[in-house]
Amino acid sequence: MKNLKFYNSLTRSKDTFTPIKEGYVGMYVCGPTVYNDVHLGNCRTFVSFDIIYRYLLYLGYKVRYVRNITDVGHLLDDGEDRILKGARLEQLEPMEVVQKYTNGFHKMMTIFNTLKPSIEPRATGHIIEQIEMVQKILDNGYAYVKNGSVYFDTVKFSKEKDIYGKLSGRVIDELFSETRELKNQGEKNHPSDFAIWMKASPEHIMKWNSPWSEGFPGWHLECSAMSTKYLGEKFDIHGGGNDLKFPHHENEVAQNVGACNCAPVNYWLHTNMLLMNGKKMSKSDGNTISPEQLFSGESEHIQKGYSPMVVRFFILQSHYRSTLDINDEALLAAEKGYKRLMEGYKTLSSLEVSGSTAGEKDAEIINLVEGAVEDMNDDFNTPRAMAKYFELVSIVNGLNDGKIDKSSVMQSTLETAVEKMRGMVFDVFGLMEEMAADGGPMDGLMQLVIELRQEARNNKDWGTSDKIRDTLNELEILIKDGKDGTTWSLK
Ligand code: AMP
Ligand code: ZN
Repeated sequence: MKNLKFYNSLTRSKDTFTPIKEGYVGMYVCGPTVYNDVHLGNCRTFVSFDIIYRYLLYLGYKVRYVRNITDVGHLLDDGEDRILKGARLEQLEPMEVVQKYTNGFHKMMTIFNTLKPSIEPRATGHIIEQIEMVQKILDNGYAYVKNGSVYFDTVKFSKEKDIYGKLSGRVIDELFSETRELKNQGEKNHPSDFAIWMKASPEHIMKWNSPWSEGFPGWHLECSAMSTKYLGEKFDIHGGGNDLKFPHHENEVAQNVGACNCAPVNYWLHTNMLLMNGKKMSKSDGNTISPEQLFSGESEHIQKGYSPMVVRFFILQSHYRSTLDINDEALLAAEKGYKRLMEGYKTLSSLEVSGSTAGEKDAEIINLVEGAVEDMNDDFNTPRAMAKYFELVSIVNGLNDGKIDKSSVMQSTLETAVEKMRGMVFDVFGLMEEMAADGGPMDGLMQLVIELRQEARNNKDWGTSDKIRDTLNELEILIKDGKDGTTWSLK
């Protein structure tokens, strides 16, 4: 029995985590819609779930982590499908759009040092499962067919099952009157009904045969079908950004209950939004900063570039359920904090002390490293756990520069601290040392390459300077020419 508790959106309280099968965890997280580049808001959510995944592994659970790729486009307000719109704008085959942005997403996840999910199913690879689920919902009487499309009957469902609205906290009567005013009802019986199968118009490219029409599955269906396929009708954790709570997750629950008469998820976890200038970062609003812009500093919103690990550290410094506003000041503070933490670890690893019996300082150090685990057990509280490590670093620096007596701490205490710090900072927080401008051999080599490139440029030998730049690019090394000379970093 582990001591983990976290906030469950379903019960609206911090619940003790008890997995369905002891020692095993099934976790599903809604992945990206791959019709353009991931933005930092998406990265915040995926980094947050990466930390949750890593912490479950740290506790010794065997985790099956499923994160999907949404490659069947959702319809936009203008009635166009996102992926088809991308394909039209970029003159690509829809599957080329999907592949291009899936690759980009994977690259970004690697740069942020996130672990790969155990299974990464694609919606287009699970059309049969989705059709089967639509059929089950129809058979159970919770859907109806209209002109080749199939709609989920929210009115009948909420009359018979006391579950619709429970996750998002929407009061059904209000929901029904609200949707009546706001939305065009079209061919649906009721405005709050939603499509689980859509008949495609003749010009629609991504479509599949089904018993009802040539068409495509509704937006919410893929997650119901794929989570059931890989994690079973009932599983432990389902996550996503809190913007997905309604309608996406609410409708997922409805579909699962409609198909299998089983509420699928025990614990719903929702991350809060990344804001820019106080507004949700969103692709559709154009209010975004790409990770690349953040790394290079080429954006009107920031003064300079920040490395991927500084950004990861910045994400960790706020709790996943709080909003996080991106701005220069906070990023600069994160940069300092990240360096202090990494240097603190190095100092700790090589520190020699001479205490012979366990005293107060030993107890203080052990309390800090154990306290960080308690913080993580309390709703994955990364900022509080991080603060404990900063206290540890202060003690370590004090010991190192003689402000704290070296004979007040035992070497074995420091050994424990090194091991715990490695486990938390590198394995759970997923931070890495960045090999840039640290004066080490790689840095020396890079300074040489930068000098050679500069010489080539001075001699107008563009062939050589381009070759150097392109090769570094292939090696994922970024060089940046700035006021104070050229610097390098890993992309
Ligand atoms: P999408 O590609 O829009 O389907 O989003 C993929 C994931 O990123 C979902 O879990 C969203 O909830 C999440 N997400 C989208 N925008 C933001 C944001 N500004 N901050 C945090 N997470 C976000
Ligand atoms: Zn989903």
